[in-house]
Amino acid sequence: MEKALRFLTSGYSADVDSVLNGALFTVDYNEMVIVRDIDYYSLCEHHLLPFFGRCHVAYIPNGRVIGLSKLPRLVDIFARRLQLQERMTNQVAETIRTKIDPLGVAVVCEGTHLCMAMRGVEKQNSYTITSAMLGAFRDNARTRMEFLELLKLRAPVMGQQFDAMTPAGVSCLDE
Ligand SMILES: [Zn+2]
Repeated sequence: MEKALRFLTSGYSADVDSVLNGALFTVDYNEMVIVRDIDYYSLCEHHLLPFFGRCHVAYIPNGRVIGLSKLPRLVDIFARRLQLQERMTNQVAETIRTKIDPLGVAVVCEGTHLCMAMRGVEKQNSYTITSAMLGAFRDNARTRMEFLELLKLRAPVMGQQFDAMTPAGVSCLDE
């Protein structure tokens, strides 16, 4: 039990810089980089129950890129904590913004929350989508739509949902 919890919260002690060390590259490339369907498993901080799903990450480089294999590692660092899906989504986006200062960053996470399913708050197969749009993804509707088109999310999602951050705490009801 203790060992399991230590693993599930190992993101607190993981160091972003050492994960990204040697994986930041200078490039002459400014097309959208996108890695979709990154599986993650996390624990909600209110109920200590799992939430899990997929995370999609995109950015438009401004002279620097992150090695592609590092993006799932980055998601893991923030997933292996007691979390809110909204915060995790923002943390992944902010870290990419801070590390390579791209023209834009977009992170969309889909999550199934056992604390909602088990307590009957939501239907069993519903899931929560959170997004963080920075830079060009926030300011330019065409860039944002191109990203969403590439994702082809399983459920229809209205464009305007992605214009605003989901207020913290929505995915996991604090009761
Ligand atoms: Zn919860």
